Amino acid sequence: MPDPAPSLVERPPQLLRDGYVLTRLEPLADLARGNSLWYLTFGLACCAVEMIHAAMARYDLERFSMIPRASPRQADLMIVSGTLTNKMARAIRRVYDQMAEPRYVISMGSCANGGGYYHHGYSTVRGCDRIIPVDVYVPGCPPTAEALLYGIAQLQRKIHEGSIARA
Ligand code: SF4
Repeated sequence: MPDPAPSLVERPPQLLRDGYVLTRLEPLADLARGNSLWYLTFGLACCAVEMIHAAMARYDLERFSMIPRASPRQADLMIVSGTLTNKMARAIRRVYDQMAEPRYVISMGSCANGGGYYHHGYSTVRGCDRIIPVDVYVPGCPPTAEALLYGIAQLQRKIHEGSIARA
């Protein structure tokens, strides 16, 4: 009598061997989310020039299926690039709340990370994470376009791992 077929737990299907795989929906959704980040153009100061640099022909963020959007309702990634002032704090929160969920934030540069040169100024928010939740911090003043690319890669890794906590 032939041995019974091994269970799926003992011998999980492999795409190349069996022609199909089993998975849960959430990792598949995370894979799609991480590989199709539509980012809001939210340049606040000089760091925005490096963000634009990353989007231009040399690094071409669209290679990673990253498309700049001018409307928060069509974006799921905000790259805070520049100095966040107290006057702008209410606006950044409103725009963040209007973004599609699940939404992600990259804080780009010393000013966005902690106030930077203006940390002790009367007009500056000492880190945009006081206003919105931040997933990845990119250090530098300004960070290079390469540093931003590295930060985006780290965000994609976190999304694919499903390690981003949400309230
Ligand atoms: S971190 Fe430096 S380059 Fe970026 S906005 Fe602040 S002062 Fe400008």
